[in-house]
Amino acid sequence: MPSFEKLYSMGHEQVTFFSDPSCGLKAIVCIHNTVLGPALGGTRLWNYKNEEEALEDALRLSRGMSYKAAISGLNLGGGKAVIIADPNNKSEELFRSYGRFIESLNGRYITAEDVNTTVQDMEYMFNETSHVVGVSKNNGGSGNPSPYTALGVFRGIEAACTKVFGNRSVKGKVVAIQGAGQVGRYLGKDLYEAGAKVIYTDINQTNIEQFREFVPNAQLVGPEEIYDVQCDIFSPNALGATINDNTINRLKCKIVAGGANNQLKEDRHGKILQEKKILYAPDYLINAGGLMNVSLEYEGWSDEKSTQMVNTIYDKTMEVFTLAERENIPVNKAADLKAEKRIEAMRKIKSNHLGHVDPRYPGAKRR
Ligand code: NAD
Repeated sequence: MPSFEKLYSMGHEQVTFFSDPSCGLKAIVCIHNTVLGPALGGTRLWNYKNEEEALEDALRLSRGMSYKAAISGLNLGGGKAVIIADPNNKSEELFRSYGRFIESLNGRYITAEDVNTTVQDMEYMFNETSHVVGVSKNNGGSGNPSPYTALGVFRGIEAACTKVFGNRSVKGKVVAIQGAGQVGRYLGKDLYEAGAKVIYTDINQTNIEQFREFVPNAQLVGPEEIYDVQCDIFSPNALGATINDNTINRLKCKIVAGGANNQLKEDRHGKILQEKKILYAPDYLINAGGLMNVSLEYEGWSDEKSTQMVNTIYDKTMEVFTLAERENIPVNKAADLKAEKRIEAMRKIKSNHLGHVDPRYPGAKRR
């Protein structure tokens, strides 16, 4: 169970457990930091081995969301939730019960899709709470965020190409995509249409077939083989921690840039990539397109607004590369510094007295 010592060290504000035996709901909501605004982050549904594992995942992911929102220039905090359940056993009542609990947080946490939760699940919650995004376009939402996540990753890859090859074009570049799911397949399509040669892998036959429809002529390799292929860009779009001690020496690329969260098993792997002269485009910076997309639901989403916002990931990535070079630090470290600096700066300006009514100070202005 979480100790206050752990929450202090990771910087979390709040951890809430929700339970409803009537539908088997076991949910944990972690709110990491709300300095910039309400905490926004998806709800992951997973058959966790135990509650400790579920909590650890929610703590780590919610912290990542604070950094993602901060570096993306969004006025949002970081949060994430997990539901402990079998993905084959989802139900309307589970999500409606969960939605009622989310409502009780009064907007401190806004939820969205994540692994094993869909637009349909968001719709169930939407019956019970307005603090949910990623609902369908018919309900005024923005629908599936994955094409926008993929577009952001594509812009991050272009920025990395500018840095490494002196030109943002991916034409003729060989890209090895690990994970042919939602993000992988849209990214593959964007790359293919821009003239890149795509190599890919997955462990799920249905997703392999869908990928083939999206990206004709792509070359399929085995899940282990992907680490050894000669390529310009290695793009992790499956699970986290795939850049680790076992894989890092096998990579034959000049760039690592993909949509998966937490690609580096440990921070030190960012330094190893730097030493190997492989440019890393930080995951939470270039995969923020989905977050940017759903964030627009509150002000009125449109494809045009979303695309414009997601396109800024190119410049944001270039800025982080420049900072890393100037400070001679690994790129993942530079991204963290930039995100932390923004949160700290906003914390300071928000500490100003806003003039609310306080009878002890008669001069205080009424708002
Ligand atoms: P997804 O479940 O649709 O796709 C993931 C794919 O990876 C699946 O096809 C799965 O079979 C495959 N996979 C799993 N293990 C593998 C392995 N060992 N080797 C090869 N393939 C493997 O998920 P997604 O929505 O495409 O998300 C992909 C990643 O991007 C995740 O890490 C997710 O957290 C992250 N992400 C997604 C979004 C989004 O908008 N969907 C936004 C930000 C970050």
